[in-house]
Amino acid sequence: MQLNFRGLPALVTGAGKGIGRDTVKALHALGAKVVAVSRTDTDLVSLSKECPGIQTVCVDLADWDATERALGNVGPVDLLVNNAAVAPLQPFLEVTKEVFDRTFNVNLRSLVQVSQIVARGMIHRGVPGSIVHVSSMVAHVTLPNLSVYSSTKGAISVFTRAMAAELGPYKIRVNSVNPTVVLTAMGQKVLADPEIARKLKERHPLQKFAETEDVVNSILFLLSDRSASTSGSGILVDAGYLAS
Ligand code: NDP
Repeated sequence: MQLNFRGLPALVTGAGKGIGRDTVKALHALGAKVVAVSRTDTDLVSLSKECPGIQTVCVDLADWDATERALGNVGPVDLLVNNAAVAPLQPFLEVTKEVFDRTFNVNLRSLVQVSQIVARGMIHRGVPGSIVHVSSMVAHVTLPNLSVYSSTKGAISVFTRAMAAELGPYKIRVNSVNPTVVLTAMGQKVLADPEIARKLKERHPLQKFAETEDVVNSILFLLSDRSASTSGSGILVDAGYLAS
């Protein structure tokens, strides 16, 4: 499936590491004009060297006002990937207000805010667009110590459908990708115990976790015209986990 995003303006959040970083690289290689948004400037500097010509924006997306200042006038965006997230581990009985607020602010509130900025721009310019939320299979199943994180992902499923319904008449499609574990920095932190990782992997029918590339390919498909009639959906990239 050869995709072409030549000249299309795209914005990716959480672009400094992991899935977001590889999404920027893929979009850049396929000709998109990418705005890479992340929290750590050194990550964005090294990404710029790998992808000459991208625009970078360094902001903590948990901060509503700073995000408005950084992205309020970001310019045209036709393709949006809401990927930034944090996954703190806390047993349900030990969930703190600080962790709850920060996780919801990064994973959910910033997704709403950035989507509003971008969708308003699309509607103002009268162009079609595609928005992809990077969610998780834990929107559908739970894993230990991830109740808050999983709740943000569950809420993303509802926002995906609500946004698809309200933005569809403007030719804006909204979908999510829902991966199982990917061994990025986040995945390695969540699955630091090798025995738990081994047992979890064995519960996947394909006997593996997902690769970053698998997730990026699904994101690219949903951004592209190849999914022109798909909106309000979530693609599982879960090595069959939910079928088991
Ligand atoms: P990583 O932790 O490897 O990368 C996350 C990126 O998001 C980093 O560049 C990070 O920057 C950035 N980010 C985090 N918080 C903020 C913030 N407040 N403002 C701006 N940028 C921020 O995560 P992954 O690549 O693994 O995860 C990407 C997406 O995939 C997430 O939505 C995650 O929930 C989802 N996912 C991941 C899975 C996994 O197992 N890895 C499984 C299923 C879904 P910095 O490091 O500077 O904070």
